[in-house]
Formats: sequence, structure tokens, C-alpha cells
Amino acid sequence: MANNQNDKNVDAVVVGAGFSGLYLILKLRELGLSFRVFEAGSGVGGTWYWNRYPGARCDVESMQYSYSFDQDLQQEWEWSEVFASQPEIMKYANHVADRYALRGDIEFNTTVVSAHFNEVTNRWAVTLESGEIVHAQYCIMATGCLSSPRAPDFKGMESFKGAVYHTGEWPHEDVDLAGLRVGVIGTGSSAIQAIPVIAEQAGHVTVFQRTPNYSIPSRNGAMSPEYADAWKSEYQTRREIQRTTPNGNYYERSKVGAMDVSDAERRRIYEENWEAGGTQFMAAFKDLSLNQAANDTAAEFVRERICEIVDNAETAELLAPDSYPIGTKRICVDTRYFETFNRDDVRLVDISKCGIDQIIETGLRTGGEDFEFDAIVYATGFDAMTGTLLKIDIQGRDGLTLREKWEAGPVSYLGIMVAGFPNMYTITGPGSPSVLCNMMVAIEQHVEFVADSLGDMQARGADVIEAGPEAEAAWVEHGIEVAYKTLYPKAASWYMGANIEGKPRVFMPYIGGMANYAAKCREIVADGYTGFLFSDRAAAAKRV
Ligand code: NAP
Repeated sequence: MANNQNDKNVDAVVVGAGFSGLYLILKLRELGLSFRVFEAGSGVGGTWYWNRYPGARCDVESMQYSYSFDQDLQQEWEWSEVFASQPEIMKYANHVADRYALRGDIEFNTTVVSAHFNEVTNRWAVTLESGEIVHAQYCIMATGCLSSPRAPDFKGMESFKGAVYHTGEWPHEDVDLAGLRVGVIGTGSSAIQAIPVIAEQAGHVTVFQRTPNYSIPSRNGAMSPEYADAWKSEYQTRREIQRTTPNGNYYERSKVGAMDVSDAERRRIYEENWEAGGTQFMAAFKDLSLNQAANDTAAEFVRERICEIVDNAETAELLAPDSYPIGTKRICVDTRYFETFNRDDVRLVDISKCGIDQIIETGLRTGGEDFEFDAIVYATGFDAMTGTLLKIDIQGRDGLTLREKWEAGPVSYLGIMVAGFPNMYTITGPGSPSVLCNMMVAIEQHVEFVADSLGDMQARGADVIEAGPEAEAAWVEHGIEVAYKTLYPKAASWYMGANIEGKPRVFMPYIGGMANYAAKCREIVADGYTGFLFSDRAAAAKRV
């Protein structure tokens, strides 16, 4: 059924036109459902639409960070680099939008402000910023995991007279930093990609670091025809294998523990993985995320590499992390990040003890020193996983809001539905593998789960599907149990909500592995959607 942008009553509303939203459109069309898709940006691409800072690039290989649902698409599309840059990923997202004529089904520059479930009609009332209200049986949140940038609230922020940027909201116009004095706050994945590129352009760069990060060289390069052909000749098989891995990536994973080999052999393996580059470093041994002693060996190896690369011993020491296990904050992947600190025009300032005192008219003040800048770049991250959902006023049964329900941290069944919020799906929501997985694999799995579930609803003639409270409680308990078997909760990471003051400390993504998760989903579906509750219109009428 065609999407009708004037229709006030549709089968489904989709919020977001990133990679989840785009694939959902195809699925909703296949199902013959009417729908409207709302996107806050002026174009498709979601995370990649907003994060266009210098150096932005995916840390999952291009051949794997792409849709697998269409054999022709994956055979025809050509990536120019092993790890695609943000502009190339945007080109891909736009190609997909054009190839399947998706654009006409998306309402751009349209922000959803609230979604309230009506228990009499079993319909969601979705209110847009314009005041328009759209009623839909299903509300599908395709809002992304890292889509609410977080700017700190330093004293005096408004007083700075220079230019201000946030990596997660980088302007769409060209930003010319040539010759400027630039201050960068933050040293996470975004900063680690941006700093080397900014340093090439700017006159001088000062980096303010609160916590150093482990980063592995990406070894990015041009895509060779042989490499692309090797993938394309067995794309379907490799895609299948991706789905049977813990994190949706096709690469070698060791079956050996780090402490089960000699010191010399361990070192050889780390060196091999360091030379290979990328996040795959964490798969050098099977227990790096589980065993502190094993993890210590990997952390020490990376610290040594940092100290080798960075000329100034004091700077090297500051850049070498030692306050949390490697990999428990998202491991970073870089191109000449540590080397950048050997430049005369780049300075590292440690703010681990004093923080940023305040922003001043001419720059910022910290540790008793005033720094003068023409531009400040906040690379301070996101209100991850829950931020965007909680920005929307979402109200389920009995007037319960999602903000109330998630006051002590997000809870859900499979990360896809929340008890008390019927007919609302959260694509890659908290409680699903999402950010611990190649996002494209996680997105396709969730979109297909939702589409199957909508088809099942049609077949059984039900009006409402919702997560059962017991199933939700059991899933949350299981999620906590698997998380605390790993070293992840030891780090004050955004996975734990620890980057936002006052945010509950809960390990948000599901860490039991993508393959296990997908198998569990298949089992639940095969058993007739165990843990989900269904009702029809008559049941709704009886309730009132
Ligand atoms: P992030 O990892 O949360 O890093 C934010 C940085 O800002 C941290 O260094 C943090 O220090 C610092 N910071 C925050 N508030 C501060 C304050 N008040 N004062 C001083 N420093 C402060 O955010 P991100 O770098 O944007 O990355 C977020 C996630 O996006 C990544 O983990 C990754 O999953 C994804 N990402 C992926 C790619 C890729 O595919 N290559 C690229 C970019 C981002 P603390 O550590 O001390 O909190």
C-alpha cells in the first residue's frame, strides 16, 4: 500500500530514516501496510547524516557494514576503501533510498514530540512538532543508539566568542579550520578519528583528555579488486557466517585463552593482530573480555605500542590507559592518532583531576591556565541508547510514561518491546545486542523480526502485541547475569550510562552474543511468540 503523507490514520508510524527506517519501508510495503515515516534530518542516513566531523569513518569493514537483503545491491555496490568514510556511507544510504524509491515515503525535517497509546482504540497518537497528530496501530522506533549528542554544561559556555562544534552535530556546510587555534574536548572514538584530520588543517590543536582510550590502528586502505571479489564471490555464505558470530563480524576468532600460551607466543599473536589492525584485535584470544589476567596482557601490549609511537614520554604516559580493562569502553580504531601527538602544533592537556574549569570569551580555563581558541570542538559523546527515546514523550498503558518505566534504567523484552507499551517496537533498543554488534547485522535482524511479527499479527487477526511483564523481567535478569560474567561493567562507559550525570548505571546492550540472541528470537517465534501477549479489539472494548 502506498504511503499517504496526508493520512491521519495509518497502520504504522516509523520514527527515523537511518538504515533501520529505510529497510522498514521495504518491509512495510511488502506487507501491504499503510505507513508514515518521520525523520528529523533533511536527508536519510541517521547517525551518518549527523556525524560528519572530519575523519568520520566506520570501524567495521565496508564489505560487512552494508545491507545483505538484496543480492543485486551487494554485488553492484562498490566501496572504495576497506573502512568506508562518512561521505561514502552517505552515498550508499542515498543510493539505497533512490534505488528503491524510498525518499517519497519519508517526511524529512519532521520531529516526533510524543506518542501516546490509546487503550480504547488500541492506537498510538503520534504528535509532530507541527502539532499534527497521526494515529497508528504500530509505532516503530527506528531512532538509533547514538543519536542524541551530549554537550557538557561547563560554566560560561555561552560566553565563548569563537566557533563551537559538536562532532555529533557537525555542520553540513564546509568548516574551514585552516590556520585556526582549535581546542578539542574528549578523546573517545569520534575525537580519535577527528584529531589527526583537524591537526592537518588547523594552526594549533589542544586536546583536553579526561580518560585516555585504547585505540588500534585501522590499517585502512583502498579496496583492492581482489579483496572485493573474494567477498562478492561468496557474499551469501559470508553473510550467513556473520550472523553466527557474537558480534556480527566475519573474522577469525581465537579459540585459545591468553594465559594458555607462552609469553613469547602471546606476544607474537598480539603483534600479528596489531599489524592486522581494527577491532578484531579483541578477538586475539577468546577470553579478553572475560578474564582480568588475560585482559591485562592485551592492555599492557597496547600501552607499550602507545609509548613506542609517542616521542614525548610524559605525553605517552598520559595517552596510555590503565584505569579500566581494554575493550570495556568501546575499543577505538584510528589512523595515526597517537602519531599526531608528535607534531609541534598539537598539545595534550590532562584534565583527569581538574576537569574543565569554565569556558571563557577567548577559550577555556583549566588547571589555572587560560587557553585561547578560535574554535572549540566538543567530542563529548551521546546520551546513548535511551536518550532519543526518552526525549519523545512516550506514554503506554495506564498513562505510564517510558521515562517513569525506565527511571531505574531501561528494561525491555529482547530489546524490541517494552511491557506496558503495546504495539511499540524499538529497533536495536536497549536489551538487544545493538551497539555490541555490527549495527547492520543487528538492524536487519530486528527489522526482519518486526516484519515477521506484523505478518503474524495479520495472520492471527490480533489487534495488539505486547511484551509480557514476566518475560520482560526474566530477560532483564538474564541480561544482567551475562553482563556481569564479563569485565564490561568495570568501566565507567556509555554502555553503563556512566557518561551522563544522574543516568542510572545499568549495562544497556545485551552481551550474550548476536548468534545466541538471534537463535533465541527464532525459538520464541517458532513457539508462537513465547512471552508476548496478544489481544483483539473485543478485549480492548472489555477493558474500558
Ligand atoms: P564517547 O566515546 O562517549 O567519548 C566522549 C569523550 O568526551 C570521552 O573522552 C569523555 O571522557 C569526554 N568527555 C565527556 N564529557 C566530558 C566533560 N564534561 N569533560 C571532559 N571530557 C568529557 O563519544 P564518541 O567519541 O562520540 O563515541 C561514542 C560511540 O560512537 C563510540 O564508542 C562508538 O560506538 C561510536 N562511534 C563509532 C565510530 C566508528 O565507527 N569508527 C566513530 C565514532 C563514534 P571520559 O571518557 O572521561 O568520559
